[in-house]
Amino acid sequence: MTEHWYPAYIGLGSNLNNPILQLETAFVLLSEIPLTRLVRQSSLYRSEPFGGIEQPDFVNAVAALITQLPAAELLLELQSIENKCGRKRTDIKWGPRSLDLDLLVYSDHEINETNLIVPHPGIGERNFVLLPLGEVALEVYVPNLGRVARINAHASDLAVSRIE
Ligand code: ATP
Ligand code: CA
Ligand code: CA
Repeated sequence: MTEHWYPAYIGLGSNLNNPILQLETAFVLLSEIPLTRLVRQSSLYRSEPFGGIEQPDFVNAVAALITQLPAAELLLELQSIENKCGRKRTDIKWGPRSLDLDLLVYSDHEINETNLIVPHPGIGERNFVLLPLGEVALEVYVPNLGRVARINAHASDLAVSRIE
């Protein structure tokens, strides 16, 4: 059987327990996922919290992977990394967290399961996702949204700045 490698893009975010270190650790753990290679990592970005909850600024980034895992199995690997990095499943949505890993894009697949929606529905309105995604995937086509370069032009105005 010929093995197939799917491109997948992961959004990383942290605003607790040394966010920069959290993301650096997360990149290493992403590179160790079975049947998967870490191909590119974006710069780190400092960003204003999203969703109206009073909390520290986030550090965000994007990882480009290629993987032989199906999307659902890749999500389980991402959740296992979140847990290793001290993520509490009781954390509130859009609230403070040590590590958040979202599956943004998985090849050209569109998935609408209760626990997995791909492309991630927040991409088009979050410039803390679009800026780092643009660094590693400017030409990538996101189902329903178009090329990353084009979506970038329409991103929201939440303050985001590159930190390294
Ligand atoms: P948002 O998804 O709007 O960025 P969040 O990251 O704060 O919010 P979480 O609390 O981390 O949300 O995740 C809640 C659930 O979202 C997870 O249990 C997971 O099953 C589901 N989910 C659906 N689609 C995705 C996806 N593309 N990537 C990661 N999780 C997803
Ligand atoms: Ca998220
Ligand atoms: Ca998440």
